[in-house]
Amino acid sequence: MASATTFRRPAPEGPAVTRLLLIGGGHAHVHVLDAMAKRPFPDTETTLISPYPRQIYSGMLPGWIAGHYTIEQCAIPINLLAERAGVRFVQTACTSLDPESKQAHCLNGEIIPFHFASIDTGPTADLGNMPGALEHALPIRPIEGFVNAWQGVLERAREQTSGFRLAIVGDGAAGTELAFAIQHRFSCERIKHGQITLIGGGKQPLSGFPERLRRTAATLLQQHGIAYLSDSRAIEFLPGAVRLADKTEMASDLCLVVTGAAAPAWPADSGLACDDSGFIRLTSTLQSGSHPWVFAAGDVVAYEEARPKSGVFAVRAGPVLADNLRAACAGKTLQAWKPQEKALYLISTGRRHALAAWGPLSVSGEWVWRWKDRIDRRFVQRFS
Ligand SMILES: Cc1cc2nc3c(=O)[nH]c(=O)nc-3n(C[C@H](O)[C@H](O)[C@H](O)COP(=O)(O)OP(=O)(O)OC[C@H]3O[C@@H](n4cnc5c(N)ncnc54)[C@H](O)[C@@H]3O)c2cc1C
Repeated sequence: MASATTFRRPAPEGPAVTRLLLIGGGHAHVHVLDAMAKRPFPDTETTLISPYPRQIYSGMLPGWIAGHYTIEQCAIPINLLAERAGVRFVQTACTSLDPESKQAHCLNGEIIPFHFASIDTGPTADLGNMPGALEHALPIRPIEGFVNAWQGVLERAREQTSGFRLAIVGDGAAGTELAFAIQHRFSCERIKHGQITLIGGGKQPLSGFPERLRRTAATLLQQHGIAYLSDSRAIEFLPGAVRLADKTEMASDLCLVVTGAAAPAWPADSGLACDDSGFIRLTSTLQSGSHPWVFAAGDVVAYEEARPKSGVFAVRAGPVLADNLRAACAGKTLQAWKPQEKALYLISTGRRHALAAWGPLSVSGEWVWRWKDRIDRRFVQRFS
């Protein structure tokens, strides 16, 4: 399906080279870099900015925690991927964009001009303005922050022989998977005194997933000795405790916050059209609804047809984004894209076992883990 959008190349009045700026090294942008490495964009000078030289693949993070993978096996070296693609890599974060004058402002003070920009920075942790979250809790995002903190968490758990209480706030796919992974790691490390509590707002974890899968997850949590606190909502983090909506306080040595995805503030502050939650509004060609020379993909966007925040959609958007950026830089027509309606969810349960859901269908077993392992390893190896 071809859209009406066609860009006129900046030449002949403008500069001979088109400046493309990639903001964030997320799932869609690794595809763009890979596409550029295979077939360079003609007459285009590209810069990638991202705060870390690698991209930890979140799908493998629980496997790293469980001890199945090294961190290197879960990481895509985006600096090397950029080098291979002939792209300048700047290790910094975008703090604001001036979409009218076409400049990006970075944390390191650099101001980068562009003709076209593409944003794939992912979400931030949804801390829901909960008091004490920044001081007394550990958010899962940024993932590098969590990765840096994890060894310290393990050491505390090993040393605190009087019992180490870990609360995980958020019983969606990521929170539930992390609860299983941490419990598995504790048992491998013989941390017998570790007590994990998963806190969620429903009767069972994994709201929105098929009923059968939710029942299986609840049974497995019980079998693995992970407590599930149902119908509960954290409202405040205190030193050594989490306060719940019913005003009770639950003692915990560490609170891990996995409550979902929030939008970073800077895209809306920069004047890009965003939805009420601050996610960038997109057209079907992955262009900003307000500034068509700005493209975006992944969890930072609100697609025309709403989709859950999930790496699957960021990955699937990658090839279309690459094609459309190439077309935009060459002054050609862009393609429209519609995210698929259903996505495959694979949720590991600590040991080499996993649950899978596709729409209303669900299965579980060790073979599901092997399937997930193959998909995940292949994804990372493709870009490494
Ligand atoms: C524990 C866990 C497990 C998960 N498992 C799965 C799974 O199995 N399957 C699945 O589909 N989804 C999974 N998800 C969800 C998945 O992580 C997200 O949906 C996915 O990461 C979104 O991809 P993205 O490309 O939008 O952004 P990201 O993957 O978050 O990448 C964004 C990149 O941009 C960089 N960046 C951030 N801010 C800036 C800035 N201001 N300037 C420049 N660069 C910036 C970041 O450092 C990062 O490199 C999981 C999430 C978690 C927390």
